[in-house]
Amino acid sequence: MDSERTLTIIKPDGVEQRNVGDIIKKFEESQLRIKAAKMLHLTREQAEGFYAVHRERNFFNDLTRYMSSGPILVLVLEGENAIDRLRDLMGATDPKKAAKGTIRQLYATSIEKNVIHGSDGPVTAKTEIGYFFSALEVL
Ligand code: GDP
Repeated sequence: MDSERTLTIIKPDGVEQRNVGDIIKKFEESQLRIKAAKMLHLTREQAEGFYAVHRERNFFNDLTRYMSSGPILVLVLEGENAIDRLRDLMGATDPKKAAKGTIRQLYATSIEKNVIHGSDGPVTAKTEIGYFFSALEVL
């Protein structure tokens, strides 16, 4: 399996609850390398742009309000099978359904405030990395 890149976001609740260090430790323990990182506080419009695919979902307004409610940490991770590896570390969207020891099972408080985002496929990963980082910013 070739090395792959994925985009992850530690969402406002994860930063606020001070879960950043524990989450990054899990990335590194899982052989994922940090290739880029930046802290941002998204505007509502920037959050809407990032989640444009969810525009028709009934939770779109709540989701974009939450994602623009405080600072986030956005990272590019690289490693073998990075996209699926990260999704496994994250756990299911709904923390009540997330497997034991996953980031969402450990730290998330609801299906909305679920601490972490991870790209769901190679095409999405490329688009999402490009949304936040220029080529020069990804090492
Ligand atoms: P993910 O790939 O596991 O992050 O899940 P989705 O792509 O389906 O949803 C994107 C994000 O929208 C999730 O991570 C949650 O923060 C939020 N979300 C998903 N489902 C719901 C829901 O039913 N209600 C609310 N309020 N937010 C949701």
